[in-house]
Amino acid sequence: MKTVGKVYLVGAGPGAEDLLTVRAARLLAAADVVFYDALVPAAIVALATRAQKIAVGKRCGAHSTAQLFINRRLIEAARQHAIVVRLKGGDPMLFGRAQEEIDALDDAGIAVEVVPGVTAAVAASAALKVSLTRRGVSRNVVFATPRVGKMERESDWIAAAALADTAVVYMGAREADALADALTRRGLAASTPVAIVENASIDDERCVVGTLGDLGRLAAALGGGPAIVVIGQVLREKLAAERLRAAKRESARTRVRRAS
Ligand code: SAH
Repeated sequence: MKTVGKVYLVGAGPGAEDLLTVRAARLLAAADVVFYDALVPAAIVALATRAQKIAVGKRCGAHSTAQLFINRRLIEAARQHAIVVRLKGGDPMLFGRAQEEIDALDDAGIAVEVVPGVTAAVAASAALKVSLTRRGVSRNVVFATPRVGKMERESDWIAAAALADTAVVYMGAREADALADALTRRGLAASTPVAIVENASIDDERCVVGTLGDLGRLAAALGGGPAIVVIGQVLREKLAAERLRAAKRESARTRVRRAS
């Protein structure tokens, strides 16, 4: 069958409209069809003014049958339209099932181009104002997720996360207790600094800092937004500052109690 179009796998960034790349914005403006994931904010999808806009995928990645369906729809769209944009949250190449789509399009003889986006880990680092790498403290960063797809090989992600100077865990904040347990069993001290960032770069952005032993309690305070966990000594000053603030708050409260 004749192919006319090209599929662009485009990163939408972590949520803030102005963290979109210029290339992504240009492609959205020119697109004939846009297939977008649930995590992509409406304001970004709305930049595709002339396109037919189609929501696909579930919040945390589509399951396998849905993925096959998406692959098929992308192929069909590229046979009818010149510019097909597949818009994914953050960067398309991290925890975004991009490879399945690239391979399916390749097999169908359809041209593909990937446009990177700002991934949640770096948006979280910006929100925390804590560098993921740091001289003398962290010279490596592991991006990991506990989420395993059906029929997928189990990977020993927890070992990699435990060995990393800095670990960033996607799709793991709501299993915080299990995550903390697993990392502690792998030898990480309960006193290891951790942070959870919810809604990085968007409204209701929230950063909480504590220790691995605290992780479950920290996660319990989350709202319903996307959240990511950062673990490692790069957070130690942030944790110390947080503790100092908490101690000052507590002593101010004690003074008020005594005075009344
Ligand atoms: N491809 C995306 C990740 C998709 S997996 C990227 O590169 O960012 C979805 C997970 O990403 C969520 O469960 C959450 O852990 C994280 N995430 C996405 N957007 C986020 C945000 N604005 N703030 C915090 N975490 C976010």
